[in-house]
Amino acid sequence: MIDLSNYEIWFVTGSQNLYGEDVLQQVAQHARSIAAALDAETVIPVKVIYKPVLTTHDAIRRLCIEAELADDCIGLVTWMHTFSPARMWIPGLQSLRKPFVHLHTQFNSDIPWSTIDMDFMNLNQSAHGGREFGFIGSRLGLERTVVVGHWQDPAVRRRLGVWARAAGAWHDGQRARIARFGDNMRNVAVTEGNKVSAEIELGYSVSGYGIGDLVQAMQQVSDSEVDALTREYDDTYSVSAELGPRGGRRSELREGARIELGLRRFLADGGFIGFSSSFEVLHGMAQLPGLAVQRLMADGYGFGAEGDWKTAALVRAVKVMAHGLPGGSSFMEDYTYHFRGNESLVLGAHMLELCPSIADQQKPSLEIHPLSIGGKSDPVRLVFTGRPGPAINASLVDMGDRFRMLVNEVNAVTPAEALPRLPVARVLWKPEPDLEVAATSWILAGGAHHTAYSQAIGAEYIEDYCDIAGIECLHIDADTRVDDFKRELRWNEAYYRMSGVRAVR
Ligand code: MN
Repeated sequence: MIDLSNYEIWFVTGSQNLYGEDVLQQVAQHARSIAAALDAETVIPVKVIYKPVLTTHDAIRRLCIEAELADDCIGLVTWMHTFSPARMWIPGLQSLRKPFVHLHTQFNSDIPWSTIDMDFMNLNQSAHGGREFGFIGSRLGLERTVVVGHWQDPAVRRRLGVWARAAGAWHDGQRARIARFGDNMRNVAVTEGNKVSAEIELGYSVSGYGIGDLVQAMQQVSDSEVDALTREYDDTYSVSAELGPRGGRRSELREGARIELGLRRFLADGGFIGFSSSFEVLHGMAQLPGLAVQRLMADGYGFGAEGDWKTAALVRAVKVMAHGLPGGSSFMEDYTYHFRGNESLVLGAHMLELCPSIADQQKPSLEIHPLSIGGKSDPVRLVFTGRPGPAINASLVDMGDRFRMLVNEVNAVTPAEALPRLPVARVLWKPEPDLEVAATSWILAGGAHHTAYSQAIGAEYIEDYCDIAGIECLHIDADTRVDDFKRELRWNEAYYRMSGVRAVR
Protein backbone atom coordinates (compact mmCIF):
# COMPACT_ATOMS: atom_id res chain seq x y z
CA MET A 1 0.00 0.00 0.00
CA ILE A 2 3.06 2.25 0.02
CA ASP A 3 4.77 2.87 -3.31
CA LEU A 4 7.37 5.60 -3.70
CA SER A 5 8.36 4.65 -7.24
CA ASN A 6 5.70 6.77 -8.97
CA TYR A 7 6.52 9.88 -7.00
CA GLU A 8 8.49 12.58 -8.84
CA ILE A 9 10.83 15.29 -7.74
CA TRP A 10 11.39 17.90 -10.39
CA PHE A 11 14.96 18.97 -11.12
CA VAL A 12 14.76 22.73 -11.61
CA THR A 13 17.74 24.80 -12.76
CA GLY A 14 17.89 28.56 -12.48
CA SER A 15 19.79 30.86 -14.80
CA GLN A 16 19.21 34.10 -16.74
CA ASN A 17 19.32 35.26 -20.38
CA LEU A 18 22.41 37.45 -19.93
CA TYR A 19 24.80 34.59 -20.75
CA GLY A 20 23.58 34.00 -24.30
CA GLU A 21 22.21 30.90 -25.96
CA ASP A 22 25.44 28.90 -26.08
CA VAL A 23 25.98 29.02 -22.35
CA LEU A 24 22.32 28.28 -21.63
CA GLN A 25 22.52 25.20 -23.84
CA GLN A 26 25.50 23.97 -21.86
CA VAL A 27 23.64 24.68 -18.62
CA ALA A 28 20.69 22.65 -19.90
CA GLN A 29 22.96 19.79 -20.95
CA HIS A 30 24.63 19.69 -17.55
CA ALA A 31 21.29 19.85 -15.74
CA ARG A 32 19.98 17.00 -17.88
CA SER A 33 22.91 14.78 -17.03
CA ILE A 34 22.70 15.51 -13.30
CA ALA A 35 18.94 14.85 -13.29
CA ALA A 36 19.46 11.58 -15.18
CA ALA A 37 22.19 10.46 -12.77
CA LEU A 38 20.04 11.26 -9.73
CA ASP A 39 17.07 9.52 -11.33
CA ALA A 40 19.15 6.36 -11.81
CA GLU A 41 20.45 6.52 -8.22
CA THR A 42 18.76 3.84 -6.11
CA VAL A 43 19.36 5.67 -2.84
CA ILE A 44 16.84 8.23 -4.16
CA PRO A 45 13.65 6.14 -4.21
CA VAL A 46 11.59 8.44 -6.44
CA LYS A 47 11.81 9.64 -10.05
CA VAL A 48 13.93 12.71 -10.74
CA ILE A 49 12.48 14.61 -13.69
CA TYR A 50 14.49 17.17 -15.64
CA LYS A 51 12.70 20.48 -16.26
CA PRO A 52 13.83 23.13 -18.76
CA VAL A 53 16.21 25.79 -17.43
CA LEU A 54 14.36 28.77 -15.97
CA THR A 55 15.42 32.28 -16.93
CA THR A 56 12.38 34.54 -16.38
CA HIS A 57 9.88 35.56 -13.69
CA ASP A 58 7.04 34.08 -15.67
CA ALA A 59 8.67 30.73 -16.45
CA ILE A 60 9.52 30.26 -12.76
CA ARG A 61 6.00 31.15 -11.64
CA ARG A 62 4.43 28.79 -14.17
CA LEU A 63 6.73 25.92 -13.18
CA CYS A 64 5.83 26.35 -9.50
CA ILE A 65 2.11 26.38 -10.25
CA GLU A 66 2.47 23.32 -12.50
CA ALA A 67 4.28 21.51 -9.66
CA GLU A 68 1.43 22.40 -7.35
CA LEU A 69 -1.09 20.80 -9.70
CA ALA A 70 0.94 17.68 -10.56
CA ASP A 71 -0.41 14.87 -8.38
CA ASP A 72 2.77 12.78 -8.45
CA CYS A 73 5.16 15.70 -7.89
CA ILE A 74 6.29 15.63 -4.25
CA GLY A 75 8.65 18.60 -4.49
CA LEU A 76 11.49 20.34 -6.32
CA VAL A 77 15.25 20.08 -6.36
CA THR A 78 16.52 23.56 -7.17
CA TRP A 79 20.00 24.20 -8.52
CA MET A 80 21.62 27.45 -9.62
CA HIS A 81 24.23 26.43 -12.20
CA THR A 82 24.83 30.09 -12.97
CA PHE A 83 23.63 33.31 -11.40
CA SER A 84 19.83 33.59 -11.45
CA PRO A 85 18.82 37.01 -10.09
CA ALA A 86 16.54 35.97 -7.28
CA ARG A 87 13.82 38.60 -7.57
CA MET A 88 12.74 36.48 -10.52
CA TRP A 89 11.97 33.72 -8.01
CA ILE A 90 9.66 35.73 -5.76
CA PRO A 91 6.30 35.10 -7.48
CA GLY A 92 7.12 31.45 -8.10
CA LEU A 93 8.31 30.65 -4.59
CA GLN A 94 5.33 32.54 -3.16
CA SER A 95 2.95 30.28 -5.06
CA LEU A 96 4.88 27.07 -4.32
CA ARG A 97 3.38 25.07 -1.46
CA LYS A 98 5.26 21.86 -2.17
CA PRO A 99 8.62 21.38 -0.44
CA PHE A 100 11.91 22.10 -2.13
CA VAL A 101 15.49 21.17 -1.47
CA HIS A 102 18.26 23.55 -2.52
CA LEU A 103 21.05 21.49 -4.06
CA HIS A 104 24.17 23.64 -3.82
CA THR A 105 26.46 21.85 -6.24
CA GLN A 106 28.37 22.52 -9.43
CA PHE A 107 28.77 20.40 -12.52
CA ASN A 108 32.54 19.89 -12.31
CA SER A 109 34.07 18.71 -9.08
CA ASP A 110 37.57 20.08 -9.61
CA ILE A 111 38.98 23.40 -10.72
CA PRO A 112 40.87 22.72 -14.02
CA TRP A 113 43.99 24.53 -12.86
CA SER A 114 45.90 24.64 -16.13
CA THR A 115 42.98 25.52 -18.43
CA ILE A 116 40.66 27.63 -16.31
CA ASP A 117 39.74 30.88 -18.07
CA MET A 118 36.93 33.44 -17.92
CA ASP A 119 34.64 31.28 -20.10
CA PHE A 120 34.88 28.57 -17.48
CA MET A 121 34.26 31.12 -14.72
CA ASN A 122 31.25 32.46 -16.63
CA LEU A 123 29.65 29.03 -16.86
CA ASN A 124 30.40 27.63 -13.39
CA GLN A 125 28.94 30.15 -10.97
CA SER A 126 27.05 27.97 -8.49
CA ALA A 127 29.24 29.20 -5.65
CA HIS A 128 27.69 32.66 -5.82
CA GLY A 129 24.50 31.82 -7.76
CA GLY A 130 23.43 29.48 -4.96
CA ARG A 131 23.95 32.21 -2.38
CA GLU A 132 21.72 34.65 -4.28
CA PHE A 133 19.00 31.98 -4.35
CA GLY A 134 19.56 31.21 -0.67
CA PHE A 135 19.00 34.85 0.20
CA ILE A 136 15.55 34.99 -1.34
CA GLY A 137 14.52 31.78 0.44
CA SER A 138 15.52 33.32 3.76
CA ARG A 139 14.07 36.72 2.86
CA LEU A 140 10.72 35.02 2.13
CA GLY A 141 11.01 33.02 5.37
CA LEU A 142 10.77 29.69 3.53
CA GLU A 143 11.61 26.44 5.29
CA ARG A 144 13.77 24.30 3.03
CA THR A 145 16.59 21.81 3.16
CA VAL A 146 20.01 22.81 1.82
CA VAL A 147 22.32 20.08 0.53
CA VAL A 148 25.92 21.07 -0.25
CA GLY A 149 28.49 19.00 -2.14
CA HIS A 150 29.30 17.50 -5.52
CA TRP A 151 26.35 15.72 -7.11
CA GLN A 152 28.40 12.55 -7.70
CA ASP A 153 29.34 12.29 -4.04
CA PRO A 154 27.46 9.35 -2.45
CA ALA A 155 26.92 11.41 0.72
CA VAL A 156 25.12 14.11 -1.28
CA ARG A 157 22.94 11.54 -3.01
CA ARG A 158 22.14 9.84 0.29
CA ARG A 159 21.14 13.21 1.76
CA LEU A 160 18.86 13.87 -1.22
CA GLY A 161 17.37 10.41 -0.70
CA VAL A 162 16.58 11.25 2.93
CA TRP A 163 14.87 14.46 1.87
CA ALA A 164 12.94 12.66 -0.90
CA ARG A 165 11.62 10.15 1.63
CA ALA A 166 10.54 12.94 4.00
CA ALA A 167 8.89 14.77 1.10
CA GLY A 168 7.20 11.50 0.09
CA ALA A 169 5.78 11.06 3.60
CA TRP A 170 4.59 14.65 3.58
CA HIS A 171 2.92 14.15 0.19
CA ASP A 172 1.32 10.90 1.37
CA GLY A 173 -0.24 12.74 4.32
CA GLN A 174 -1.81 15.53 2.27
CA ARG A 175 -5.58 15.06 2.02
CA ALA A 176 -5.10 11.63 3.61
CA ARG A 177 -7.64 10.11 6.00
CA ILE A 178 -7.22 8.61 9.46
CA ALA A 179 -10.09 6.58 10.99
CA ARG A 180 -10.64 6.87 14.70
CA PHE A 181 -12.77 4.15 16.28
CA GLY A 182 -14.37 5.65 19.35
CA ASP A 183 -12.88 8.73 20.95
CA ASN A 184 -9.83 9.45 23.04
CA MET A 185 -9.24 7.33 26.14
CA ARG A 186 -11.18 9.13 28.84
CA ASN A 187 -9.20 11.81 30.72
CA VAL A 188 -5.91 11.18 28.87
CA ALA A 189 -4.24 14.47 27.87
CA VAL A 190 -1.34 13.89 25.52
CA THR A 191 -3.22 11.74 23.03
CA GLU A 192 -5.70 14.61 22.51
CA GLY A 193 -5.17 17.29 19.93
CA ASN A 194 -6.84 19.74 17.62
CA LYS A 195 -7.95 17.91 14.49
CA VAL A 196 -8.62 21.15 12.63
CA SER A 197 -5.07 22.35 13.35
CA ALA A 198 -3.74 18.99 12.15
CA GLU A 199 -5.59 19.29 8.87
CA ILE A 200 -4.38 22.88 8.36
CA GLU A 201 -0.78 22.28 9.42
CA LEU A 202 -0.11 18.63 8.62
CA GLY A 203 -2.58 17.98 5.80
CA TYR A 204 -4.46 14.89 6.98
CA SER A 205 -8.01 14.61 8.27
CA VAL A 206 -9.18 12.53 11.20
CA SER A 207 -12.73 11.14 11.23
CA GLY A 208 -14.48 9.39 14.08
CA TYR A 209 -16.43 6.15 13.65
CA GLY A 210 -18.50 4.05 15.99
CA ILE A 211 -17.12 0.61 16.73
CA GLY A 212 -20.42 -0.63 15.24
CA ASP A 213 -19.10 0.40 11.83
CA LEU A 214 -16.24 -2.06 12.27
CA VAL A 215 -18.55 -4.75 13.69
CA GLN A 216 -20.72 -4.38 10.57
CA ALA A 217 -17.69 -4.81 8.31
CA MET A 218 -16.72 -7.93 10.30
CA GLN A 219 -20.20 -9.41 9.81
CA GLN A 220 -19.71 -9.22 6.05
CA VAL A 221 -16.64 -11.46 6.24
CA SER A 222 -17.29 -15.00 4.94
CA ASP A 223 -16.25 -18.21 6.70
CA SER A 224 -14.10 -19.19 3.75
CA GLU A 225 -12.15 -15.92 4.02
CA VAL A 226 -11.59 -16.71 7.71
CA ASP A 227 -10.46 -20.26 6.79
CA ALA A 228 -7.93 -18.91 4.31
CA LEU A 229 -6.53 -16.29 6.68
CA THR A 230 -6.13 -18.70 9.61
CA ARG A 231 -4.20 -21.03 7.27
CA GLU A 232 -2.00 -18.07 6.38
CA TYR A 233 -1.37 -17.54 10.11
CA ASP A 234 -0.39 -21.22 10.43
CA ASP A 235 2.21 -20.77 7.68
CA THR A 236 3.53 -17.40 8.77
CA TYR A 237 3.85 -17.69 12.54
CA SER A 238 4.81 -20.11 15.22
CA VAL A 239 1.22 -20.80 16.34
CA SER A 240 0.68 -22.00 19.90
CA ALA A 241 -0.84 -25.49 20.18
CA GLU A 242 -4.13 -24.24 21.62
CA LEU A 243 -4.64 -21.89 18.62
CA GLY A 244 -3.47 -24.46 16.05
CA PRO A 245 -5.73 -26.40 13.65
CA ARG A 246 -6.53 -29.01 16.29
CA GLY A 247 -6.27 -26.72 19.29
CA GLY A 248 -9.08 -26.06 21.75
CA ARG A 249 -9.02 -22.30 21.19
CA ARG A 250 -8.98 -22.28 17.39
CA SER A 251 -12.32 -20.43 17.33
CA GLU A 252 -10.71 -17.48 19.12
CA LEU A 253 -8.02 -17.30 16.44
CA ARG A 254 -10.80 -17.37 13.85
CA GLU A 255 -12.38 -14.41 15.65
CA GLY A 256 -9.04 -12.61 15.40
CA ALA A 257 -8.99 -13.34 11.67
CA ARG A 258 -12.53 -11.98 11.32
CA ILE A 259 -11.47 -8.75 13.06
CA GLU A 260 -8.51 -8.41 10.68
CA LEU A 261 -10.61 -9.03 7.57
CA GLY A 262 -13.31 -6.58 8.68
CA LEU A 263 -10.80 -3.92 9.65
CA ARG A 264 -8.85 -4.39 6.43
CA ARG A 265 -12.01 -4.02 4.35
CA PHE A 266 -13.18 -0.97 6.29
CA LEU A 267 -9.81 0.79 5.86
CA ALA A 268 -9.47 -0.12 2.18
CA ASP A 269 -13.03 0.93 1.32
CA GLY A 270 -12.56 4.28 3.07
CA GLY A 271 -9.10 4.92 1.60
CA PHE A 272 -7.60 5.33 5.08
CA ILE A 273 -3.82 5.40 5.71
CA GLY A 274 -4.10 4.80 9.45
CA PHE A 275 -6.44 4.29 12.38
CA SER A 276 -6.76 4.39 16.13
CA SER A 277 -8.65 2.09 18.46
CA SER A 278 -9.85 2.35 22.06
CA PHE A 279 -10.20 -0.45 24.58
CA GLU A 280 -13.03 1.56 26.17
CA VAL A 281 -15.12 1.27 23.01
CA LEU A 282 -15.51 -2.39 22.04
CA HIS A 283 -19.28 -2.92 22.01
CA GLY A 284 -20.12 -5.86 19.78
CA MET A 285 -16.48 -6.99 19.61
CA ALA A 286 -15.40 -10.21 21.29
CA GLN A 287 -11.71 -9.20 21.61
CA LEU A 288 -9.60 -6.08 21.59
CA PRO A 289 -7.90 -6.05 18.15
CA GLY A 290 -4.29 -7.17 18.67
CA LEU A 291 -3.10 -9.48 15.91
CA ALA A 292 -5.15 -7.52 13.35
CA VAL A 293 -3.53 -4.23 14.31
CA GLN A 294 -0.07 -5.79 14.28
CA ARG A 295 -0.54 -7.21 10.79
CA LEU A 296 -2.09 -4.04 9.36
CA MET A 297 0.86 -2.03 10.68
CA ALA A 298 3.22 -4.51 9.00
CA ASP A 299 1.42 -3.75 5.73
CA GLY A 300 2.06 -0.02 6.12
CA TYR A 301 -0.97 1.33 8.01
CA GLY A 302 -0.35 3.87 10.74
CA PHE A 303 -1.71 3.03 14.17
CA GLY A 304 -2.19 4.73 17.53
CA ALA A 305 -3.87 3.14 20.55
CA GLU A 306 -6.41 4.80 22.90
CA GLY A 307 -7.63 7.20 20.22
CA ASP A 308 -4.14 8.51 19.50
CA TRP A 309 -4.60 9.71 15.92
CA LYS A 310 -1.45 11.89 16.02
CA THR A 311 0.74 8.84 16.59
CA ALA A 312 -1.26 6.85 14.01
CA ALA A 313 -0.44 9.51 11.39
CA LEU A 314 3.19 9.68 12.55
CA VAL A 315 3.64 5.88 12.37
CA ARG A 316 2.30 6.03 8.83
CA ALA A 317 4.66 8.89 7.91
CA VAL A 318 7.58 6.91 9.33
CA LYS A 319 6.53 3.83 7.37
CA VAL A 320 6.46 5.86 4.15
CA MET A 321 9.91 7.33 4.86
CA ALA A 322 11.23 3.87 5.71
CA HIS A 323 9.68 2.06 2.75
CA GLY A 324 12.10 -0.42 1.19
CA LEU A 325 14.84 0.24 3.76
CA PRO A 326 16.11 -2.52 6.05
CA GLY A 327 14.61 -2.48 9.56
CA GLY A 328 11.07 -2.14 10.80
CA SER A 329 8.88 0.59 12.27
CA SER A 330 6.13 0.38 14.86
CA PHE A 331 3.76 2.07 17.23
CA MET A 332 5.52 2.06 20.63
CA GLU A 333 5.08 2.95 24.28
CA ASP A 334 7.70 3.43 26.98
CA TYR A 335 6.45 0.81 29.40
CA THR A 336 8.80 0.02 32.27
CA TYR A 337 12.38 0.75 33.38
CA HIS A 338 15.49 -1.19 34.32
CA PHE A 339 17.46 1.28 36.44
CA ARG A 340 21.21 0.69 36.27
CA GLY A 341 22.81 4.14 36.49
CA ASN A 342 24.29 5.16 33.13
CA GLU A 343 23.30 1.82 31.64
CA SER A 344 19.58 2.13 32.46
CA LEU A 345 17.18 0.59 29.97
CA VAL A 346 13.59 1.06 28.82
CA LEU A 347 11.30 -1.83 28.03
CA GLY A 348 8.95 -0.71 25.27
CA ALA A 349 5.70 -2.56 24.66
CA HIS A 350 1.95 -2.04 24.59
CA MET A 351 -1.10 -4.01 25.59
CA LEU A 352 -0.77 -5.90 22.29
CA GLU A 353 0.01 -3.68 19.38
CA LEU A 354 3.63 -3.69 18.24
CA CYS A 355 4.42 -4.22 14.55
CA PRO A 356 6.16 -7.53 13.71
CA SER A 357 8.40 -5.67 11.21
CA ILE A 358 10.69 -4.96 14.20
CA ALA A 359 10.78 -8.59 15.40
CA ASP A 360 14.09 -10.36 15.91
CA GLN A 361 12.48 -13.73 15.13
CA GLN A 362 11.72 -14.97 11.62
CA LYS A 363 8.46 -16.38 12.90
CA PRO A 364 6.90 -14.43 15.77
CA SER A 365 4.84 -16.50 18.15
CA LEU A 366 1.04 -16.33 17.78
CA GLU A 367 -0.50 -16.72 21.23
CA ILE A 368 -3.60 -16.07 23.31
CA HIS A 369 -3.55 -14.74 26.86
CA PRO A 370 -5.86 -12.85 29.18
CA LEU A 371 -5.86 -9.04 29.11
CA SER A 372 -6.66 -7.43 32.42
CA ILE A 373 -8.04 -4.31 30.74
CA GLY A 374 -11.03 -3.81 28.43
CA GLY A 375 -13.30 -6.46 29.93
CA LYS A 376 -13.45 -8.66 26.81
CA SER A 377 -12.38 -12.19 25.86
CA ASP A 378 -8.70 -12.99 25.66
CA PRO A 379 -7.18 -11.38 22.55
CA VAL A 380 -4.86 -13.16 20.11
CA ARG A 381 -1.53 -11.46 19.56
CA LEU A 382 1.96 -11.86 18.10
CA VAL A 383 4.66 -12.13 20.75
CA PHE A 384 8.28 -11.33 19.88
CA THR A 385 11.34 -9.39 21.00
CA GLY A 386 12.59 -6.45 18.95
CA ARG A 387 15.87 -6.87 17.11
CA PRO A 388 18.93 -5.12 18.53
CA GLY A 389 20.49 -2.06 16.88
CA PRO A 390 20.12 1.70 16.58
CA ALA A 391 16.61 3.16 16.41
CA ILE A 392 14.63 6.32 17.03
CA ASN A 393 11.51 7.13 19.01
CA ALA A 394 9.51 10.08 17.66
CA SER A 395 6.56 11.76 19.29
CA LEU A 396 4.19 14.45 18.05
CA VAL A 397 2.38 16.54 20.67
CA ASP A 398 -0.12 19.37 20.43
CA MET A 399 1.12 22.30 22.57
CA GLY A 400 -2.13 24.19 22.12
CA ASP A 401 -0.77 26.83 19.76
CA ARG A 402 1.45 24.56 17.66
CA PHE A 403 2.65 21.03 17.10
CA ARG A 404 5.96 19.88 18.55
CA MET A 405 7.98 16.87 17.44
CA LEU A 406 10.50 15.09 19.64
CA VAL A 407 13.03 12.52 18.49
CA ASN A 408 15.24 10.44 20.74
CA GLU A 409 17.99 8.24 19.39
CA VAL A 410 18.08 4.89 21.16
CA ASN A 411 19.92 1.58 20.87
CA ALA A 412 17.86 -1.58 21.09
CA VAL A 413 19.56 -4.42 22.94
CA THR A 414 18.84 -8.09 23.42
CA PRO A 415 17.44 -8.75 26.91
CA ALA A 416 20.06 -10.44 29.08
CA GLU A 417 17.49 -12.97 30.24
CA ALA A 418 14.45 -14.69 28.79
CA LEU A 419 11.02 -13.22 29.57
CA PRO A 420 8.98 -16.42 29.76
CA ARG A 421 5.95 -14.90 31.48
CA LEU A 422 5.61 -11.69 29.44
CA PRO A 423 2.83 -12.37 26.90
CA VAL A 424 3.33 -9.32 24.65
CA ALA A 425 5.76 -8.09 22.01
CA ARG A 426 8.50 -5.92 23.47
CA VAL A 427 11.74 -4.07 22.71
CA LEU A 428 14.48 -3.23 25.18
CA TRP A 429 16.55 -0.13 24.49
CA LYS A 430 19.09 2.23 25.96
CA PRO A 431 18.26 5.85 25.13
CA GLU A 432 20.94 8.36 24.08
CA PRO A 433 22.79 9.83 25.87
CA ASP A 434 21.43 7.91 28.86
CA LEU A 435 18.04 7.37 30.45
CA GLU A 436 18.43 10.21 32.95
CA VAL A 437 19.17 12.91 30.36
CA ALA A 438 16.83 11.48 27.73
CA ALA A 439 13.81 11.13 30.01
CA THR A 440 14.46 14.46 31.77
CA SER A 441 14.58 16.25 28.40
CA TRP A 442 11.62 14.32 27.02
CA ILE A 443 9.49 15.11 30.07
CA LEU A 444 10.45 18.80 30.13
CA ALA A 445 9.41 19.01 26.48
CA GLY A 446 6.08 17.30 27.15
CA GLY A 447 6.81 14.31 24.90
CA ALA A 448 4.18 11.59 24.85
CA HIS A 449 4.36 8.02 26.16
CA HIS A 450 3.26 6.89 22.68
CA THR A 451 5.83 7.08 19.90
CA ALA A 452 6.67 5.96 16.41
CA TYR A 453 9.67 3.64 16.75
CA SER A 454 11.90 2.92 13.77
CA GLN A 455 15.08 1.02 13.05
CA ALA A 456 14.88 1.95 9.37
CA ILE A 457 15.31 5.71 9.55
CA GLY A 458 17.32 8.17 11.63
CA ALA A 459 16.45 11.49 13.23
CA GLU A 460 17.40 13.49 10.11
CA TYR A 461 14.36 12.09 8.27
CA ILE A 462 12.08 13.38 11.02
CA GLU A 463 13.88 16.73 11.00
CA ASP A 464 13.38 17.07 7.23
CA TYR A 465 9.71 16.18 7.66
CA CYS A 466 9.36 18.86 10.38
CA ASP A 467 11.11 21.46 8.23
CA ILE A 468 8.69 20.69 5.42
CA ALA A 469 5.77 20.93 7.84
CA GLY A 470 7.19 24.06 9.48
CA ILE A 471 6.86 22.58 12.97
CA GLU A 472 9.23 22.50 15.92
CA CYS A 473 11.58 19.52 16.12
CA LEU A 474 13.54 18.71 19.28
CA HIS A 475 16.32 16.20 18.99
CA ILE A 476 17.68 14.21 21.94
CA ASP A 477 20.91 12.42 21.02
CA ALA A 478 24.36 11.51 22.34
CA ASP A 479 25.29 15.23 22.59
CA THR A 480 22.20 16.38 24.51
CA ARG A 481 22.72 18.15 27.83
CA VAL A 482 19.75 19.02 30.00
CA ASP A 483 20.77 22.66 30.62
CA ASP A 484 21.19 23.30 26.88
CA PHE A 485 17.95 21.53 26.16
CA LYS A 486 16.07 23.66 28.70
CA ARG A 487 17.42 26.80 27.04
CA GLU A 488 16.34 25.50 23.64
CA LEU A 489 12.84 24.92 24.98
CA ARG A 490 12.63 28.45 26.39
CA TRP A 491 14.05 30.05 23.26
CA ASN A 492 11.77 28.05 21.01
CA GLU A 493 8.80 29.08 23.12
CA ALA A 494 9.64 32.71 22.50
CA TYR A 495 10.50 32.13 18.85
CA TYR A 496 7.27 30.41 17.94
CA ARG A 497 5.16 33.01 19.75
CA MET A 498 7.04 36.05 18.40
CA SER A 499 7.51 34.93 14.83
CA GLY A 500 4.01 33.54 14.48
CA VAL A 501 5.65 30.74 12.54
CA ARG A 502 3.01 28.21 11.75
CA ALA A 503 2.80 25.88 8.85
CA VAL A 504 -0.41 27.46 7.56
CA ARG A 505 0.82 27.77 4.02
MN1 MN B 1 -1.02 3.35 25.36
